[in-house]
Amino acid sequence: MPYGAVADPRLALLTGQTGHAQPGTPDGAPGHAWEGRSTMEYERGRKDGVPSNVGPKPTFTGHAMQDALLDDGAKGEIRVYSVIFEPGARTYWHSHASGQTLLINSGEGMVENRDGDKRVVRAGDVVWAPPGEVHWHGAAPDAFLSHTAVSLGLTGWEEEVDEAHYRGAFEGE
Ligand code: MN
Repeated sequence: MPYGAVADPRLALLTGQTGHAQPGTPDGAPGHAWEGRSTMEYERGRKDGVPSNVGPKPTFTGHAMQDALLDDGAKGEIRVYSVIFEPGARTYWHSHASGQTLLINSGEGMVENRDGDKRVVRAGDVVWAPPGEVHWHGAAPDAFLSHTAVSLGLTGWEEEVDEAHYRGAFEGE
């Protein structure tokens, strides 16, 4: 099912498909749980009683903490995670089958792709990684990074961002 045509009402919150009246929608068209609602809609993000993931992660260098805000599990169409990287921590090289949006909340870090297209990112910045584009993201050597990651499709993990590459990426920044 293409993104933009999701049926899960939780995902619909992110796509604006919240069941509000839309011109031209035929009577009897398939609906969902939000059908007919005309007030604001809320979805709980962080789940009560679910501890943050603070342990070592096989595809991260350094220490990072994660909370799942929305995860459709085996479907793998969308995952929304809040992530805090300690200074120096970063993901391995990876790609997202249908792309990823990163919303930078606080701190300072970097996003870089295989072509060396890189940006130092800070609070309020937004990054879109296109489907299949291999990249990494993480904190600066001397600052933590907090971001909300909206990942679409399965993630394909590659190798670690080695220390020399990581350090070099910040030289001159
Ligand atoms: Mn990513």
